[in-house]
Amino acid sequence: MIAAKARFRYAKKLQRIAGYRVPDFAFNGGAFMDILVSSLDYDSLDRTMRSQIIQFYKDFLECKCKESPQCGCPERKFALKILELRRLGLDHRQISEILVDDYGVEIYPPTDILSFLEDSVHTLEAIRDVARIEGKEKLLQETIDAIREIEGK
Ligand SMILES: [Zn+2]
Repeated sequence: MIAAKARFRYAKKLQRIAGYRVPDFAFNGGAFMDILVSSLDYDSLDRTMRSQIIQFYKDFLECKCKESPQCGCPERKFALKILELRRLGLDHRQISEILVDDYGVEIYPPTDILSFLEDSVHTLEAIRDVARIEGKEKLLQETIDAIREIEGK
């Protein structure tokens, strides 16, 4: 699970501002998300941190599940975001830079992104094979396209 490796780069700084413990891992048990959603004084953050946190919230935390943010959507959306960036043609280093710039979130080492992309291709290949056997043409084509885009061919 790639989201489990996402660290909030400015956790220490945020902790000083917030005055309570902020976990390093951005998706860890929902604790960080609860802080984001509830009690942070946004005016005390600098402009960059504020926009990163708001972007993080918008892109990963907004869902209508009752158990949100413990529903699994944030982690799934984060994984999809990485795949989406890859499908736009970015390599793992560029993806890593975007995650820092946009969300203040770091995957270290960036080669973990590479492993995640390879794992995703393997999963898609398994889905593709089943789709082929079961004659699901639309799904088959979608997985073939996704694999090609992730592999960058
Ligand atoms: Zn959800």
